[in-house]
Amino acid sequence: MLRIESSKLFWGHPDASFLMSGHWIIGGGHPGRTCLDLTFLAYVQNVEIEYSCLHYWLWPKQEAKASFRLEDVQQDIVAGFWSTLKKRCPAAKRVVFNQNLMLCDVMEEVEKVPLCLEVLLRASPKDIVAEAVIMQTRGEGENWKTDLYSYREKPQWRNVYFRPLGDGGWEYLDATTRNNTVLVPGRLFRGLVGQFEKDSFVLDRIIFQERAFWPLVIEALDRHHFDNGKSNAFECPKPECSVRFTKAGEWTIHAATTSHGCARAGDDLFDILPTELRGVFKDRYNMLMIKRQELSEVYTKISKDWNEGGEKRKRMQQEIFQQLENDPDWATDEPAADHRIWKNFTKVMDPTWNGQ
Ligand SMILES: [Zn+2]
Repeated sequence: MLRIESSKLFWGHPDASFLMSGHWIIGGGHPGRTCLDLTFLAYVQNVEIEYSCLHYWLWPKQEAKASFRLEDVQQDIVAGFWSTLKKRCPAAKRVVFNQNLMLCDVMEEVEKVPLCLEVLLRASPKDIVAEAVIMQTRGEGENWKTDLYSYREKPQWRNVYFRPLGDGGWEYLDATTRNNTVLVPGRLFRGLVGQFEKDSFVLDRIIFQERAFWPLVIEALDRHHFDNGKSNAFECPKPECSVRFTKAGEWTIHAATTSHGCARAGDDLFDILPTELRGVFKDRYNMLMIKRQELSEVYTKISKDWNEGGEKRKRMQQEIFQQLENDPDWATDEPAADHRIWKNFTKVMDPTWNGQ
C-alpha cells in the first residue's frame, strides 16, 4: 500500500522531468540506440526532451540556411515522433522541449518559439501537455527575445516556458519553479555488447558529475556564509578581485558573471572552500576518479583481448554479432554489420584510433 502511494508521488512529482534525447525519439526510439532503462521510461510522467536542432529533422530536404516554411514540414516525421514517444513513455503527461546550448542552425528572427518546434508542440496528442523552455536574452529597449545563438555566458539571459494555446497564441509559465532535470538510469548491461556500451554510458555520467563541481562549489561557499540565519560578509576569493559580498546570492551571481572561482576539480577548484567542506568535495572527487579507473581497466581488457587477434577476436566478434542480432536490448532496424554499436566498436578498438 505504502509502496503504491509513494510510487504515485515519485512518478507524478511535478518538478521532476526525466531527460531523453529528441534525436533518439525521432530516429525511431530503438532500444539499441540508447542506454536508458526502457522499463523505467514506461513509468515516467514528465518527460524532458533535449535536442540540438529540429529544423533538419522535420524538414530533411531543406536548402542550406533557408527559412523554415510550414508547408515543407514532413508531417509523417512529426506524427512518428509522438507515436514513438507514446510507445516508449506510455505514462507521459507532460513533455518539455529544452533548448540545449543552441536551438537551431537556421538564421532567422524568432519572437517566441521557433517554427520547427512550434509544429511539434502543436501536434502533441490530446492527453499530453507539451511545452517549450526557451532561452531568451535581453535586447535593446530592455525587451527579452528568443536567441537562437544563445550561449550561457551571456550575462543577461532567462529561461521562459511557453505552452501553446488553442487560438494559436502562447501561454507564459513561471520558469523559476518549473523544472528539475533528472537523468534516467541506465539499463542492465548484459554480455560483451553491454560491457562495451556501459563503458561510454558511465563515463558520460561521470563527466556530467565532474562538470557539476564548479556550480556546487560556488553555492557551497555562498551557503557557508549566509545559510541558517548567518550573515558573514566575505571577499571574492580571486586574489586580484576585492569585491565584498554582504548578502546571500551576491557571490553566486558574481562568480557566474565573472568566472571568478572557476577551476577544474582536478586542479585547485576546492581551494576556495573552508577546510570542512573541502574534505567533502575531495572525497566525492576521489570516488569519481576511482570509478573512472575501474572503467578504464575494463576497456583496456576488452581492447587487449580484441587486438590479440586470432581465435580470441573471432569469438568476440561472434558473441557481438549474436547479441546484436538476437538480444532485444540492442535491437535496431539494421543488420548487425551495420549496427552503430558494431561500427563504433571496430573504430575504437583500432590501436591507431585517436579519439575522433
Ligand atoms: Zn571576483
